[in-house]
Amino acid sequence: MIAGASLTIDLESLAQNYRLIRARVAPAQVGGVVKADGYGLGALPVATTLIGQGCRHIFVALLAEAMALLPEIGDRASVYVLNGLLPGAEAACARAGAIPVLNSLDQVERWSAQGRADGSVLPAVLQVDTGMSRMGLPGDEVDRLLAAPGLLAAIDLRFLISHLACADDADDPANADQAARFQAIADRFPGVPRALDNSGGVFHERGHFDLVRAGIALYGGAPRHDAPNPMRPVVALEARIAQLRTVPPSTGVGYGLTFRTTRETRIATIPVGYADGWPRCLGNRGAAYIAGIRVPIVGRVSMDSITLDVTDVPETHLHPGAPVELIGPHQTIDQVAADAGTISYEILTQLSRRYERHYRPALAGTPDRSTAP
Ligand SMILES: *Cc1c(COP(=O)(O)O)cnc(C)c1O
Repeated sequence: MIAGASLTIDLESLAQNYRLIRARVAPAQVGGVVKADGYGLGALPVATTLIGQGCRHIFVALLAEAMALLPEIGDRASVYVLNGLLPGAEAACARAGAIPVLNSLDQVERWSAQGRADGSVLPAVLQVDTGMSRMGLPGDEVDRLLAAPGLLAAIDLRFLISHLACADDADDPANADQAARFQAIADRFPGVPRALDNSGGVFHERGHFDLVRAGIALYGGAPRHDAPNPMRPVVALEARIAQLRTVPPSTGVGYGLTFRTTRETRIATIPVGYADGWPRCLGNRGAAYIAGIRVPIVGRVSMDSITLDVTDVPETHLHPGAPVELIGPHQTIDQVAADAGTISYEILTQLSRRYERHYRPALAGTPDRSTAP
């Protein structure tokens, strides 16, 4: 192996996660969120896998992400740009065939004008703010939009959407507030399909409107922090021991000598560091696993390496080149995130391009019945 570690992305598990969500929300459809290069796992292999399962709705954050994806996937799915339409991007967006999520009245006006200039009715998604104060039309802009029907006449409105602020905690009262507000606004847009839920919302005990937008759950992350994770892990990360040493008690380890041994200690160095997206704050806090045995990170995480206390591991598992689990059956992305004081989303999206990548292909899928030709 010439890389520091190998990252295995299991597209069959991704497909199974898609099917689990589909079964849960039916008859609503499942859209796949592949922003930030498919949460770091590769937007194209992820999107292609989801499309193979019958997914027809792909969400990215940026127009640039849509433009990279669209030539590859053609008309097999619609590609929506969640972050909306920046001024000056209208013509490029229309030409690329990307579908913007219109997040303000100004964006609606500019997309309408683009349609008139092109002599066509352009497709769009409309996002309304139901309480997160991040993106989407605020209430007064919704009123103004509905008072100016000419604006919407120039647009082929595919979905009305909003986004939940607290979906990972099903009992948070903000969820019911937002769902009620969304329902009330949706009633003013009769006939327009609706989408509210992200991964967390998929696991709330209520209806799921017409479409859900699933991200982290597809990638194996826990959709809720208040319940066991029903998703299959998609990512495994395995490093190899680069070097081993035995040091006496009272020896310092790593930058700043922030760890000092208290016994004769076997130290393994692995070639993964914060430049690979392994959080630097895991120094003296996180762990790895060798042959299923927890080996704590000792000393600081360096740019390109980590030192592990492997004293408790039998010698047969300790040699240069021996495998070290960083993400796998003993250590989930949610565990790494918890140790680092962050969320699985950040662990995934920081995964280094330096890792050697292996994709395990998905088996043939069962396409969505609702969208089968
Ligand atoms: C990122 C995002 C999603 C997906 O969220 P997950 O929690 O990863 O499922 C859905 N909708 C919007 C608007 C988003 O920004």
